[in-house]
Amino acid sequence: MFAAAQSAGAQEPFSVAVVDDDPMWRFLLASALRERGWQVFDFESGPRMLDELAARAFDIVLVDAMMPEVDGFETCRRVRRSEWAATPLLMLTGLEDDHSIRRAFDAGANDFFIKSTHWPLLVERIRSLVDAAETERRLRHAERDLDAGRDARRELEQLAEHDPLTRLPNRDAFLRRLAVATNEARACDQCLAVALIDIDRFRQINDTLGQAAGDQVLRMVGERIVAALREALGVDALGAQGNAGRSHACAARFPGDEFALAIPSMRSVSEVDETLRHVRAALHRPFVVDGSECFVSTSVGVAMFPRDGDSPDALISNADRATREVKARGRNDVGWYRPTHQEENRDRFEILSGLHKAIERAEFEVYFQPWVDLASATVTGVEALLRWRRGDRQIPPAEFIPVAEDSGLIIPIGEWVLQHAAGQFAQMRRQGIALQRLAVNIPTAHFERDTLLSGLRAALHLNSLPPRSIELELTETCMVRDFEKTLPKLEALIRAGATLAIDDFGTGYSSLAYLTRLPISKLKVDRAFVGELGRCAQGAAVCKAIIALGQGLGVQVLAEGVETAEQARELMALGCTTMQGFLFARPVPAAALSSAISEAVIVARHIIGGAGAAGRARHERNTTDARGEVVR
Ligand code: C2E
Ligand code: MG
Ligand code: MG
Repeated sequence: MFAAAQSAGAQEPFSVAVVDDDPMWRFLLASALRERGWQVFDFESGPRMLDELAARAFDIVLVDAMMPEVDGFETCRRVRRSEWAATPLLMLTGLEDDHSIRRAFDAGANDFFIKSTHWPLLVERIRSLVDAAETERRLRHAERDLDAGRDARRELEQLAEHDPLTRLPNRDAFLRRLAVATNEARACDQCLAVALIDIDRFRQINDTLGQAAGDQVLRMVGERIVAALREALGVDALGAQGNAGRSHACAARFPGDEFALAIPSMRSVSEVDETLRHVRAALHRPFVVDGSECFVSTSVGVAMFPRDGDSPDALISNADRATREVKARGRNDVGWYRPTHQEENRDRFEILSGLHKAIERAEFEVYFQPWVDLASATVTGVEALLRWRRGDRQIPPAEFIPVAEDSGLIIPIGEWVLQHAAGQFAQMRRQGIALQRLAVNIPTAHFERDTLLSGLRAALHLNSLPPRSIELELTETCMVRDFEKTLPKLEALIRAGATLAIDDFGTGYSSLAYLTRLPISKLKVDRAFVGELGRCAQGAAVCKAIIALGQGLGVQVLAEGVETAEQARELMALGCTTMQGFLFARPVPAAALSSAISEAVIVARHIIGGAGAAGRARHERNTTDARGEVVR
């Protein structure tokens, strides 16, 4: 029934109103349309046409944008306020600038046509607009018939839910499904990607091959998207109707040449990228239309729930922004949503106002992450890592530490962390957890304050902690920025009982000359380098060089972010035995530290066992080689 309704379309010949103040253009246009047997009524102004419209309906109104007194935009608005508000309106414009086009749509036009004598193109445009209005009319009609029951309800659902051309869900249906999908993702703590696919320069296809060919391409695009999603995600991924809620992906057509995808249960950005790569590859194969091949490229914007928005509207509008950015960069690419400065400012402002109250409201907590020494299979220390719980959300340090640093709030926060962590650390030691050292992160601003020295003394003294039990983690940049001034400060901290570590080593650019003079006892190899281990030869080479450098300087080297047993073994083979990372233990609250330490020791023993005698021998040989190299 639905198919029949669709193919019947609107009945020709159409009655067309042409409104243009230019008599020559009016004459040309009217003659071209009359040639098709259509009834054409031409008017020199908007008000004239509106007078006539009070007495009779037209199938469509074509209206020139630029006219004296009442222009095309105002004419459109008046039609929309009239009794014949549903009449399709096509704006004729001489300007291809986005501004007029946007204004035309804002004024209520359904489409626009750039004035040219390309009559077949204009005729196709008119047909599709009148067809769409007819579908709309049937929809309303079916709605009225609904009380009478029959197939009407099904037809109504079909019309209301689907785009007649591609048979894919339309925008409204997509929004409803996306609402279900986001609720599910929220409940299951999963990510959900929303992608908008825009076909680059689709108008050229319409203009050169005709609208009918353009329609065919759109239909095929829809089919290929669905097939590619099925291939990429599995046959069941789109549900029975091609697109249900319940953890199924959904592909939809938006007005014009845009398609939308909702892809649930995504585990990572790279999984989304891979799926989209597959979809785009399918669309970039040639389309054969009426015997000729045509190619399309696509601009795709993506937003991920919950990171980039937690409502369907926010996700779609952020994916749309990403699409527009791709187009502005030159099209034919995939772009991820990035917050604008304005949004970033708003977020920063919210974080900042929250931070002001966080200490008083006791929203901060210190977590501890153990590090292990694989040579002895023991946990020798812990790093204090700040956590901020706001309502039911835990805000990651990467989001709030930079704001705290910029605003100076990092100093009271840093002092709180130092005192609080030292207190908890002392308590753990009293409870019998044998830990030698507590590492605390110190940002540059805090380092520059004299209060750091007094804070350190207080932390050690008030908690009866022995000297060298607190390690201050500083960055390379912080230490060597103003080297001659910094050095005495570092020495004073050491005299007061601290040891010093360089955090995230390898990401700064300190020269070797400075490094040899720094009174540090530890280098923490940044986790970015550790993550490269086993992936590429260069990754291993960088780790090897840093480890060798640390050994040459005679300081301990700790590898951060160790996540796999392979990384741990490779590090051991390179001569680094002190490690911190999720493989051994995640950061945990003080109360859970004891069991985290026990588990870390079990993992360490397992690694040492697996490394075997050959690995250990290689490790010792590397250690000696490395020392030799740097010292020479
Ligand atoms: P960081 O000092 O380099 O801390 C190590 C970070 O690596 C921690 O992130 C830790 O949770 C994470 N990590 C540990 N093992 C692994 C692993 O195996 N894989 C991965 N992917 N990550 C691992 P966190 O807690 O999110 O902290 C991030 C950064 O925020 C810290 O980097 C530090 O620069 C800063 N920060 C954290 N707490 C404080 C604090 O109390 N004061 C200051 N000033 N900065 C802090
Ligand atoms: Mg650190
Ligand atoms: Mg670090």
